[in-house]
Amino acid sequence: MGTAATQRDVPQVLGPADAGYDEARAVWNAMFDRRPREIWRCRDVSDVAAAIHRARAQELEVAVRCGGHSMAGHSVPADGLMIDLTPMGDVRVDPQRRRAWVQGGALLGALDVASQAHGLATTAGNVSHTGVGGLTLGGGMGWLARQHGLSCDNVVSFEVMTADGECVRASSDENAELYWGLRGGGGNFGVVTEFEFVLHPTGTRALSVELDFPVPDAAPAMSAWRDLAVTAPRAATYAATVTGGVATLGFVWVGDPAAGREHAVAISALGRPATERILELSYLDLQSREDTTRGHSFRTYVKGHYLGQLSDAAIEAFLAHDSRVSASLQAYGGAIADVPDEATAFSHRTTAFEYVDATRWTDPAEDEECKALVREGAARVGAFASGVYVNTLSDDGVNGVHRAYPPAKLARLRALKDQYDPDNIFHLNQNVPPHRATSAAAR
Ligand SMILES: Cc1cc2nc3c(=O)[nH]c(=O)nc-3n(C[C@H](O)[C@H](O)[C@H](O)COP(=O)(O)OP(=O)(O)OC[C@H]3O[C@@H](n4cnc5c(N)ncnc54)[C@H](O)[C@@H]3O)c2cc1C
Repeated sequence: MGTAATQRDVPQVLGPADAGYDEARAVWNAMFDRRPREIWRCRDVSDVAAAIHRARAQELEVAVRCGGHSMAGHSVPADGLMIDLTPMGDVRVDPQRRRAWVQGGALLGALDVASQAHGLATTAGNVSHTGVGGLTLGGGMGWLARQHGLSCDNVVSFEVMTADGECVRASSDENAELYWGLRGGGGNFGVVTEFEFVLHPTGTRALSVELDFPVPDAAPAMSAWRDLAVTAPRAATYAATVTGGVATLGFVWVGDPAAGREHAVAISALGRPATERILELSYLDLQSREDTTRGHSFRTYVKGHYLGQLSDAAIEAFLAHDSRVSASLQAYGGAIADVPDEATAFSHRTTAFEYVDATRWTDPAEDEECKALVREGAARVGAFASGVYVNTLSDDGVNGVHRAYPPAKLARLRALKDQYDPDNIFHLNQNVPPHRATSAAAR
């Protein structure tokens, strides 16, 4: 396979024998060690069109890669064609208009750094090496979401390469139904080559408050934490984790740290923790502080739920996790719930908390044991669940997609899929199958 990066008209295409092939096919979750036949390192819209054309002509399975953080390894195909958007990682900011134009392969860190240079930001997730692409198309939860909505709520337009190689724009007044579906419907409808985001004057400071309680003493503290979480100001996003026999309860405040410290006074109601950490930090440090603990190259298994409320019984289930897994809760509400549920494909906006249960390891021999631990904890909490965030689905299959979208939304998404991708070219995702795919499977 020739590498032709020097010729402007031909994108670099990597095959198994080429230098850089193994680096390019590696994704965040080491469980997915797949070998694409071709990796198209796309630099612009025309490269993406050429890659789609090539895949269709050769009948190669297509995967689209941005940050490569899909829990299910969806961005790398076995023996197919990977549309690698990582060379398209640029972010352009207009501080006067408070807008950011973000290429389809950009990472969250690039968006945050470019925006913060002007004291601006938009909602992005909590680990800077995650891709803007997959995160935003599924919804996009982050420390600013209670103030400004999910990442997808902040996209004013998308530039999309469709399955038939057409470049279209989607916004409230152009291809409005596609605009609806791209805000939460994942990578089902085409390759997004550019996102246009609204930015907000957020300043550059943040505060993190964390209190550690031994698990056996944590239930009363966690009930009080829950009561504070649901009435907290929007600048505060309450978060909790349980791992290694310790429950950590607290919140993240984005904005004036002094106001955050005032709010922290309320948290003394939780009782006396074993240890506490109150940390003032920059917004950029906040956005990358989990980069190492949630870094690449580990085998990982994840399960998630949405919880409409957090009863005392659900708290007991949360605290009962095996000490080898890490389970977390992050509060929703605020601006997330201001958007009417029918306004976007993203669903379950009135959820109170998002729950994620995960573990990571390196030895393939431990795969089944580790997955079983995660499943066990998630099943216990699942008794209280009201749905799931599509971006935390892993091997949940069709049932997972049905939990992510209520039936009326799923029907609307399928109609959109019929229009934009009737042959299901883009199926390596949490797939919304077009009707044609289902009837073919039934034959
Ligand atoms: C360490 C870590 C931290 C996370 N933190 C958060 C968080 O704080 N908040 C949150 O909401 N989620 C979070 N997630 C979940 C995350 O949103 C999903 O894993 C998401 O799919 C990652 O997107 P990606 O671009 O990195 O992944 P990829 O694997 O590259 O892509 C994921 C899916 O999106 C599709 N896709 C990606 N880019 C495009 C594009 N430009 N056009 C069309 N389709 C595209 C892919 O085809 C694939 O199906 C986290 C995940 C990890 C692993």
